[in-house]
Amino acid sequence: MISIDLSSKTALVMGVANARSLGWAIAQQLLAAGCRVGFSYQGERLKPELEKLLAGHDNTWIMQADATSEDDLSALFARVGEEFGGLDYLVHSIGFAPKAAMDGRFIETTPADWNTAMSVSAYTLVSIARHAEPLLRAGGSIVSLTYHASQQVVPKYNVMGVAKAALEAATRYLASEMGAAGVRVNCISAGPMRTIAARSIPGFGDMYDKAAKAAPLGRNATSEEVGKLALFLLSDMGSGITGEVVYVDAGAHIMTMKLD
Ligand code: NAD
Repeated sequence: MISIDLSSKTALVMGVANARSLGWAIAQQLLAAGCRVGFSYQGERLKPELEKLLAGHDNTWIMQADATSEDDLSALFARVGEEFGGLDYLVHSIGFAPKAAMDGRFIETTPADWNTAMSVSAYTLVSIARHAEPLLRAGGSIVSLTYHASQQVVPKYNVMGVAKAALEAATRYLASEMGAAGVRVNCISAGPMRTIAARSIPGFGDMYDKAAKAAPLGRNATSEEVGKLALFLLSDMGSGITGEVVYVDAGAHIMTMKLD
């Protein structure tokens, strides 16, 4: 029997808004494996929900941090150092693009909306990795969440597709620089999941149903399946994998079309 024991490991999970968040699906797997987990949340509004989710989980702590604020990141990683002394796993489950940039035509994207989407959804992986680097131990691993709109046009994803392409490229550059210290960096490309972030995408419900029909497995992947892949990639199970984009979408991305 293979079991994953992470009771000597520490993790920071960034981007849990509620029970549907992919960050929470990942955190649940880490907690079930015995890992000690710190959580950061974007703003005070989100604190009660996170406290509710973590009730009964003793090996956890939480702290507010806007990922676009250097001051917040400095304070967060100072706390990681105090709590854990070092860090094994880092989960970046953060994304945002202004609604106007997804409602309209891509060609109309404003510089402000472009910068916001790129800064929150892609650059934060770089700044977070930089803050984490002095704490990350050999054997450590970073995972972030991407979507296939980085590779092919998905209607309405617009600048978010561009930001995900930047996130995937940033993953490769980070992996190439951090590998010498024994740290791996990977992306999980998840199929559509019903989360708060997904709700802001125009026509998401329709796309969710179509993706399920198009997928070889005839359904969408689940957030639990995202969590299990993250556990694999973060832990020693994924020790030979870095700079990679690994799909968990019930195979949807391999299809161009499906005949009824
Ligand atoms: P979610 O809304 O539950 O999580 C998004 C998180 O990003 C929230 O916790 C939010 O507070 C956080 N965030 C946004 N701006 C931030 C900032 N400035 N500082 C700190 N945190 C900030 O939705 P989710 O679907 O779980 O999204 C998590 C990740 O998964 C995102 O990168 C998203 O693009 C990606 N993803 C989602 C899907 C899907 O269909 N839901 C598919 C593929 C990839």
